[in-house]
Amino acid sequence: MWIIANFKSNKNIAEALAWVDEVGPQIPGTTSLKVVVCPTVICIEDVKKEVLVGGYHLIVGSQDLSSFDEGAYTGEEAARILKDVVDLSILGHSERRQHFNETDEMVAAKVIQARQYNIGPLVCVQDENIPVPDGVKLVAYEPIFAIGTGTPDTPQNANEVAKLLKQKYGDDIEVLYGGSVTSENAKAFLQQENIAGLLIGRASLEPAEFIKIVEIADSLL
Ligand code: PEP
Repeated sequence: MWIIANFKSNKNIAEALAWVDEVGPQIPGTTSLKVVVCPTVICIEDVKKEVLVGGYHLIVGSQDLSSFDEGAYTGEEAARILKDVVDLSILGHSERRQHFNETDEMVAAKVIQARQYNIGPLVCVQDENIPVPDGVKLVAYEPIFAIGTGTPDTPQNANEVAKLLKQKYGDDIEVLYGGSVTSENAKAFLQQENIAGLLIGRASLEPAEFIKIVEIADSLL
């Protein structure tokens, strides 16, 4: 089961480290529970060091990576460079598609980069018709109406979409749900047969709220 925190463009280095210091010691070492934090790029290295020093059961990821290999691409974060500090990357988030005109083709190119450098691609799809590139084993169903709105999808519908995605791309893919998840509704999503975890934006920012969700997930294992 996966519980993934997406900080989006929030928290400076000091704030991200304070979060790690509060959340890290409370994450259980249950091997089947994978807790991931995706801070902003500038925070990643410090967060990674804090996790290593603390011995926390926390995986560090990025919120994006470049569709290009290393080279003359000003402002881009290449997978070869990120791989030293991240194990996973969120790709194709709807906010990147909306605000940065990211296309399915660009997401596919990013997946190739991630896989080439052993970074696990977590591809976000807004419905079951958005393509999932080859080799992707972790997908997040995140309907646009639910992202940051306080209006989540129903657990039943999320489960149906997850089932369709598994039928399309194979039973070995894991499908997460994301969109206005809180400690109030997390259990109902995690109890669904086809949902393997949660991608959490706003509710991940507050350590106590995030830990509540982690504890709910752990109690279901
Ligand atoms: C997200 O950023 O992936 C997300 C689901 O955001 P929120 O939890 O705030 O809706």
